[in-house]
Amino acid sequence: MTADLFDELDSVLERIRSAPAVWLGTDFDGTLVPHAANPGDVALDPQVMDLLRELGTLPRCRVAVVTGRSLADIRRLVAVHEIAYAGNHGLEIQALGLDHRDAAAVLAREPLERTALRLADELVGRPGITVQDKRFSLAVDYYASPMEIRRIAVAAIDAAIAGVPMLFARHGVHGSEVRPVGAGHKGTAALRLREHQSGPDALPIFLGDELTDEDAFEALPDGITIRVGDPRPTAARYCVDSPREVARFLHRLRDAIAS
Ligand SMILES: [Mg+2]
Repeated sequence: MTADLFDELDSVLERIRSAPAVWLGTDFDGTLVPHAANPGDVALDPQVMDLLRELGTLPRCRVAVVTGRSLADIRRLVAVHEIAYAGNHGLEIQALGLDHRDAAAVLAREPLERTALRLADELVGRPGITVQDKRFSLAVDYYASPMEIRRIAVAAIDAAIAGVPMLFARHGVHGSEVRPVGAGHKGTAALRLREHQSGPDALPIFLGDELTDEDAFEALPDGITIRVGDPRPTAARYCVDSPREVARFLHRLRDAIAS
């Protein structure tokens, strides 16, 4: 059963205060910032940026942003040096002393590039569609497209990967992802980062809003897992409404760990 985080905040903060160490993993779009029609049109609130930096430098706490964006993109958008990053839903990870590239994703790079070129050729120019080659995965966004165009996009993606056994597609509400078969996901990335940054005894906290974040919620069954956004079935223990409430929680988290 998923509970409203702020109804149970006292007990959550008590767990955090008594934990030997805390590992915080968080998604970016829809979690730290509201979703934008154009993924290029987002900027992180400087106050949230400062909170991530502060949390990342507290002795008992380590922080990672785990996102579907490419590593280069997310490093530029968050711009905090004191934390770790996982891009492409965990297929590329950079933390102090860790530089990980998923082996299956590296092998699938060539077919992925060919697929990206084909889809750009077929879809770019249609209303609301963007095709983004993120190196280890490929995103087709149609958040701002009419339903008819979304159907065309999904059909084109399925056709493009039909003869490519190394790739599969996941169709969501905002867009589709083409990913390497057999590669890791946000759950494997969260476990790897917690172990590397904080050790196995650290209390994990994970925040996210999309289907891909469910992999991390499921990988951390004893953690403080928090789903952001409108109510929906989730493996997370707690929920909050919006990125604004995420920022509110991060303030309380900082105070609890610093005290
Ligand atoms: Mg998200």
